[in-house]
Amino acid sequence: MKVRISRSLLEQIVHLAARQAVEVCGLLLGEGRRITAILPAANVALDPARHFELDPAILIAAHRAARQGGPAVLGHYHSHPSGRAEPSRTDVECARPDGTLWLIVGGEGARLWVAQAGEDGNLRFIEADLATE
Ligand SMILES: [Zn+2]
Repeated sequence: MKVRISRSLLEQIVHLAARQAVEVCGLLLGEGRRITAILPAANVALDPARHFELDPAILIAAHRAARQGGPAVLGHYHSHPSGRAEPSRTDVECARPDGTLWLIVGGEGARLWVAQAGEDGNLRFIEADLATE
């Protein structure tokens, strides 16, 4: 699966995550398989250095805007300040197999994952091709 994003938008996400001791997070907005905007959100997790939890007010507002004709909520991004750009054990525990996009920024840059159901019905993160344009 290939998902498109502009180079400047991807750079913006990486820049937001750079030199932050806590996990930064936000929403990925767009249409179909094209990310056209991001919506940074506060990380309201109790331990934001190790976990992330999107500010629910941002989530509610974004879904409401989508219903009123705004861009769809395709997924979200978050960073691993001292880890790799792949789903952590916590991410696997928290994710639902609903097809949402998970963009993770880690030491090696940004990678994109899709939370899907495997043949056994359990969650699987499948890496997607993040195509910059
Ligand atoms: Zn994570």
